[in-house]
Amino acid sequence: MTKIKTRFAPSPTGYLHIGGLRTALYNYLFAKQNKGQFVLRIEDTDQSREVKGATQDLIQTMQKTGLNWDEGPFVNKTLNITEKGQNSPYFQSKRLKIYQEYAEMLVSDKKAYYCYCSPERLVKLRKDQEAKKLAPKYDGCCRDKNQKPKSGDKYVIRLKVPKDGEVVCDDLIRGKVKIDYSEIDDQVLIKSDGFPTYHLANVIDDHLMGITHVIRGEEWLPSTPKHILLYEAFGWDKPIFAHLPLLLNKDKSKLSKRQGDVAVEDYLTKGYLPEALINYVALLGWHPKDDRELFSLKDLIKHFSLNKVQKGGAIFDTEKLNWFNCEYIKQKPDKELIKLVKKFLPNADDNFLGKIIRIEKQRINSLSEICEKTRYFFSQPNFNSNILIFKKSDKAKTLNSLKLVLAQLTKLKEAKWKIKHLHKILEKIVKLNQLTNGDVFWPTRVAVSGLEKSPSPEEIIEALGKEESLTRIKKAIDKLT
Ligand code: GLU
Repeated sequence: MTKIKTRFAPSPTGYLHIGGLRTALYNYLFAKQNKGQFVLRIEDTDQSREVKGATQDLIQTMQKTGLNWDEGPFVNKTLNITEKGQNSPYFQSKRLKIYQEYAEMLVSDKKAYYCYCSPERLVKLRKDQEAKKLAPKYDGCCRDKNQKPKSGDKYVIRLKVPKDGEVVCDDLIRGKVKIDYSEIDDQVLIKSDGFPTYHLANVIDDHLMGITHVIRGEEWLPSTPKHILLYEAFGWDKPIFAHLPLLLNKDKSKLSKRQGDVAVEDYLTKGYLPEALINYVALLGWHPKDDRELFSLKDLIKHFSLNKVQKGGAIFDTEKLNWFNCEYIKQKPDKELIKLVKKFLPNADDNFLGKIIRIEKQRINSLSEICEKTRYFFSQPNFNSNILIFKKSDKAKTLNSLKLVLAQLTKLKEAKWKIKHLHKILEKIVKLNQLTNGDVFWPTRVAVSGLEKSPSPEEIIEALGKEESLTRIKKAIDKLT
C-alpha cells in the first residue's frame, strides 16, 4: 500500500492566516493518523508578490503550533528558523531548473508549445474578447508554429489543451465535477522570465515528492482542472484532491483582515495559546461524532476524519475562540502561566504574578488581557468616588462600612492575611452592624480595585498585602469625606 503523504504549500505572499493554519492542520492530521508523512513546501516562485518576513513567519508559526513537518532537503541556517535536527522546508525558488526541464519535456512531446505573442498583442486580444462579451482566452496563435526559440527571443511556454473531451475532477469533499476542455485556456507554464507558474511548479512538485492527497482551500478549486490536465499531459497518476470549505465572518462574508485579525501570529502575540488555536481551528469544517469540543493535537490525530469535512463555509467566531482559550488557560498549571504572562508583565515578581494569575485565570480570554485587567494590582487605581456607593446603599453607610473594614483589617495579623479570614471579617461586619453585602463588600472591592467589576475584595486584598490594602481603603475614605 502506498504511504500517505500530504503537504502544506503556502506562498509567502502574506503571514500565515487562520485559514492557512487550518489547511496545514488538516494535512498534518491526515498524514499522522495514517502513519504517513507531512511536507512543508514554500511556493515562492512569484517573487514580485513576496511579502518581506512572510517565509519566516510561516515557518515559525508552524513550529509554535506544533505542526512539525517530516522531510526537507537541508537545514537552513541562514533563515535561522529550524530547530535542532529539523529539516528545512522545500523552497520552490531553489528548484527552478527542474520545472524548466519538465516544461521542455512537454514541448518535445508536443503537449506544450513556445508562444512568442507580445504582451501588447495579448492585451488587445483580451480587449477584443471583452468587447464581444467572450471569456478571455488565448487564441492559439502560436499553438502549431513548432518554432524553437533563438537566443534573445522572448517567449513563454503554454500547455496545449486538447481540443475535444472533458476533465473529470473527483474531489473527496465536493464530489465529481466535469469540465469541457474548451473551457480551459492554454495556460502559461513557464513565464518569459524563466520562472514557472504556480500551476506547473505545484503539479511537478506534488508528483516528484510523492504527494498522495492534496488538501487545500476551496479557492484552489478552479485551478484543479488545469492541474489534472497537466498530470494527464505528463502521463502521471493524479493525487486525491480534497478542497476545504471557505472560512466566513459571522455575517457570512469571506473571512478577511477588514473584520479583525486573521494572522495567526497576531493571536499568538496577544496571548492566545497555540493549543487553543489548534483546537478551535480543527473544528472549522469538521465535527466529531459526539459533541465533544476539547481536543489536544494528539486527540485530533486520533479522531479527525477527512471524510467528515463539510462542504459549506465554516464561520470563524472570535467569541468561541475566546472560550477555547479560557479553557486552556484554566487547565494550565500556574507555574507555566507565570512564565507565559511574564512576556506581558516583565517587571512583575513571580510570587505576586502567581497570586494575580490564580485570581484572574477564570476570567481572562487571552493572556494579554491579564495586563489590562490587572493594571490596578500594579498601581493605585484612579476612580470617581461615586462608584464606591452600591446602588442600593448610600454615602453614610458606605463611609461607615469602609471605616469598620479599615479598623478590623488594621487589627488582623499578617500571618492571618488569607482569603478565608478576610472573608469572615467582612461577613462579620455585615452581620454585626445590620448592613448588607452591598454596603460592605462592594465599596471595599471598589476601594482596592477602582473598578465596578473585579474579583472579590478578599482575593484582591490578599494579593495586595496588608500595607497596600490599608492605604487604598484609607484613600477611599478620604474620597468620601
Ligand atoms: N501556493 C498555494 C497557496 O499559496 C498552494 C495551493 C495548493 O495547496 O495547491 O495557497
